[in-house]
Amino acid sequence: MDKIILKNLCVFARHGVLQFEKEEGQDFYLTIEIERDLKAAGDNDKLSSTVDYAKIADIAVHVFADKSYNLIEKAAEDVIEAIIERCPSIKGVMVEVSKPNAPLNVKFETAMVRIERKLHRAYLGIGTNMGDLHSNLEKAVESISIMKETRISAVSNYIMTKAWGKEDQDDYLNAVVCVETWLDPVELLHFCQDTEKLMGRVRLEKWGPRIIDLDILLFDDLIISEPNLVIPHPYMHERDFVIAPLKEIAPYAIHPLLRTFIKDIKVEK
Ligand code: ADP
Ligand code: MG
Repeated sequence: MDKIILKNLCVFARHGVLQFEKEEGQDFYLTIEIERDLKAAGDNDKLSSTVDYAKIADIAVHVFADKSYNLIEKAAEDVIEAIIERCPSIKGVMVEVSKPNAPLNVKFETAMVRIERKLHRAYLGIGTNMGDLHSNLEKAVESISIMKETRISAVSNYIMTKAWGKEDQDDYLNAVVCVETWLDPVELLHFCQDTEKLMGRVRLEKWGPRIIDLDILLFDDLIISEPNLVIPHPYMHERDFVIAPLKEIAPYAIHPLLRTFIKDIKVEK
């Protein structure tokens, strides 16, 4: 991916755990790398086709020097957050904070932290079989759309399906949503669970009726196998109510374990 780099911006600030660091302040150096496709800017020579690095420098310097942090980790995180919020076209950002005058009792060049965030693509399965089904899915989509770290790039049609796994319950309305997100997989799972709770979901029995279910189906090409989080979702390839809407919005997405296009997954009925 192409990059725009600002190297060693010098910023005076009052960060540090020790009192004298907060009182006297010192110089810090910020390096920022922005990932973005620069092909269009290279072709048309227009500022609107790139990210204005003067604007990035301005955001970074203001956020960094505005208050006194104990940790340069937190200062770097806040700089990243501000850049992500104000520059929607970027795909990744790295911020490095260097503190060459850190209070150490040894000769050294600098002390620094480097943090990196990337924009990910994930697919969420949403489903409901209690109350006003259409309005439940609309509310779930709405709560995804207002999250500041995430934007929706596609929503499938809503499809009615028979209950799966535990069949003596009402039919479901299901859909799949494609998102671009700065969250990591665990943060995205917490968002799904918070939304389920906010919408009034109560867990009574496995695969039982629910007002709303939000599952992470795919997250980039990641394979995760933790007690509380399995990606790709372990049952997705067995569930037509997931595969059918996913085929509609992402036929050429790849299932990283089956190593096949979504369009080629056949669900046994
Ligand atoms: P299901 O979605 O299979 O009907 P639940 O919604 O009740 O079941 O979720 C049960 C648990 O599944 C949650 O506590 C969550 O931690 C776990 N889980 C594991 N992997 C995922 C995933 N990819 N997406 C959502 N939940 C997951
Ligand atoms: Mg679930």
